[in-house]
Amino acid sequence: MIGIALAAFGFSGFLLARTVWPGAGDPAYDSKRRNLIDSETLQPFRDHPIKEGTIYPWPHPGTGKSTLYPAEACYWTADGRVKLEPTWVLLKTYLGESGDTTCPDCGRKVVRHNPMPPTEMFVELQKKMAG
Ligand SMILES: [Zn+2]
Repeated sequence: MIGIALAAFGFSGFLLARTVWPGAGDPAYDSKRRNLIDSETLQPFRDHPIKEGTIYPWPHPGTGKSTLYPAEACYWTADGRVKLEPTWVLLKTYLGESGDTTCPDCGRKVVRHNPMPPTEMFVELQKKMAG
């Protein structure tokens, strides 16, 4: 009787842990989250969980349609400064279109694994924000 009670307790404890820390103890957890962008609304999905071994386009959680693509981050502003909250850009290549993709905010060319502006520029920005 005690054994069964302990087993039941152990199982519910396991379920609780799974609920509170869904990725606990799984080193690959982070790698299954990506920054995605909806090709219809251009709405970004930050750190969106994706199934391992699957490829874009991923299904939109709201519509169920496969419209989610990898998002590239652009940290530039139109006047050549940097910003902490990037503009998320959908590359033409993901849609099978040819030609360069430009950022709708600053007009710069955006590529796969889009490079970040120099670190010094972020340091400068944070100094300014700190006062
Ligand atoms: Zn930009």
